Amino acid sequence: MEDKKLIIAIDGPSGAGKSTVGKELAKRLGYLYIDTGAMYRGVALKAKERGIEPEDEKALSQLVSSIQISFTSGGEENRILCDGEDVTHAIRSPEISRFASEISKSRIVREALVRMQREMGKEGGGVLEGRDIGTVVFPDADLKFYLDADPEERGRRRFREFSEKGVEVDFKETLKEVVERDQNDMSRSLSPLKRADDAILIDSTCRSVDEIVGEMCRIVAEKRRWDETDYR
Ligand code: C5P
Repeated sequence: MEDKKLIIAIDGPSGAGKSTVGKELAKRLGYLYIDTGAMYRGVALKAKERGIEPEDEKALSQLVSSIQISFTSGGEENRILCDGEDVTHAIRSPEISRFASEISKSRIVREALVRMQREMGKEGGGVLEGRDIGTVVFPDADLKFYLDADPEERGRRRFREFSEKGVEVDFKETLKEVVERDQNDMSRSLSPLKRADDAILIDSTCRSVDEIVGEMCRIVAEKRRWDETDYR
């Protein structure tokens, strides 16, 4: 019998390692990897280009009703296309990070993106990473992880990512940005970042990607054994 294709949710604050771990987990399981943060960033980029303010619900509504977002996973890198344009790198600037966090408070934007995310994951066999996957997008996900790490460590990871990409940033500024964005994401009224009651907490501070993905794979295998026993 073929294994059931699971929906796996990974939520948590920025810099906790969700993307690195999520991509690797999806690769090992042969699953689709869906970076929902990249979708909010894509909308933020397009809004910025059009001079749309985060409070302008009418303009945001027009934007999200027509925007086409897709992922391609050719080669080493997962790429994101917005209206056919490759925005993989353009969405990663500190400015777009902040703007995405502002835009993600909009009901219109959230409803449109949640609909797209549910559509992308409807066949199962997906690792979805974000802030509200286990609480809102797929509350019945087969497995939910909440990945966290010390703020200092998360700031260091973000700083390293920027440095590797040649983006000049100050460490203290990066740390401040990470902490502020998390507060923003945790305190908004719509779908705030929080751990779902049934999410497994993993602290990634001082742990390698390999160790964490290994632990997740063991939990996936355990879940499968458990489900098989249940059905007998
Ligand atoms: O994960 P990433 O840092 O790329 O996400 C950018 C921003 O998008 C977050 O700070 C958050 O405000 C928003 N987001 C969200 N819901 C998600 C994923 C991201 O509100 N599921």
